[in-house]
Amino acid sequence: MAVQHFGFDAQRDLQQHIANLVREPALNVYMASGDFSHDVVIPGHFSTLARPIKLSVHAHAYGKNRKLLLSGDITAVEQAEAMRRDFVANVSHEIRTPLTVLAGFIETLQTLPLNEVERTRCLALMAQQSLRMQTLVTDLLTLSRLEGGPVPGANEWTTTSALFAQCEQEARALSGVIAPQGHRLEFEPGPACEIAGIQAELHSAISNLVTNAVRYTPEGGLVHFSWVLLEDGRGQFQVRDTGPGIAPEHLPRLTERFYRVDRSRSRETGGTGLGLAIVKHVAQRHGAELRIESQPGRGSCFSIIFPATRVRRLQAVEAISTSLS
Ligand code: ADP
Repeated sequence: MAVQHFGFDAQRDLQQHIANLVREPALNVYMASGDFSHDVVIPGHFSTLARPIKLSVHAHAYGKNRKLLLSGDITAVEQAEAMRRDFVANVSHEIRTPLTVLAGFIETLQTLPLNEVERTRCLALMAQQSLRMQTLVTDLLTLSRLEGGPVPGANEWTTTSALFAQCEQEARALSGVIAPQGHRLEFEPGPACEIAGIQAELHSAISNLVTNAVRYTPEGGLVHFSWVLLEDGRGQFQVRDTGPGIAPEHLPRLTERFYRVDRSRSRETGGTGLGLAIVKHVAQRHGAELRIESQPGRGSCFSIIFPATRVRRLQAVEAISTSLS
């Protein structure tokens, strides 16, 4: 541990004074102070800018002028704490914005004598802001359920046809609302299959990808959705769009909570910045892989690839439909 934390050499460093071995001013000041009621935090020996390591070092005096030095790697704890702080700040910010707007309208309604048209407009905007907060809270609850819940078992099967039909309906409805001239929406539901997993989670993931494609693709653009069985038995769900695409530097961060490339487009179309974080969690919980490919100016392609063990063809249904036709 001392090698990992301080870079000590068990042979060479024997009987050396610690101040000669660890050249950290904060540690030297701490050791010289004689006050060991608390620890001191210093960078680890192998700490770099790209991979910072933080050590908590605590001295305990004992015996005749002897000291025992305890060191612990607190990098992960500090990172988790930083993430928690960021998350709380983000959530507060996301809620504060619509709340401020709502409060403004309430004040207007209370103080100004509005005519019927103005009043209706005010209430419509208030409804929009409260819906935004509702969506945010729903997404937050979904995320927390995904993080805390048990991994979906392999015995609960969800049929792809019903799942995809529901997502197609949602996409068409959304396209009608946000793009008066609509999009070209192509759905290829592929072979009838079942996926082992929780229906609500699978719906949440697939619907997020499909609605993102609709939301970010300009009017008249193409959104293509497909489900195929790969040769090795895995099942691939894919959504391709001809939207603005995403620059490569953003790709690794897309699934972080609240990470957005186009903040205003996200807000205008009711985005929370949590959609892809939910997709990633659902994929992970089902042992599936989330793939994101995109070329700026040309479009994006999001795929979820389910392992063969979680996918099976609906033979019975196929047999019936073949005999009917
Ligand atoms: P949001 O609610 O903002 O859409 P997401 O987590 O679903 O949040 O997506 C994160 C960001 O990824 C979006 O803000 C957007 O910038 C980008 N993005 C997601 N899907 C697409 C897409 N199909 N085309 C272009 N950009 C996309």
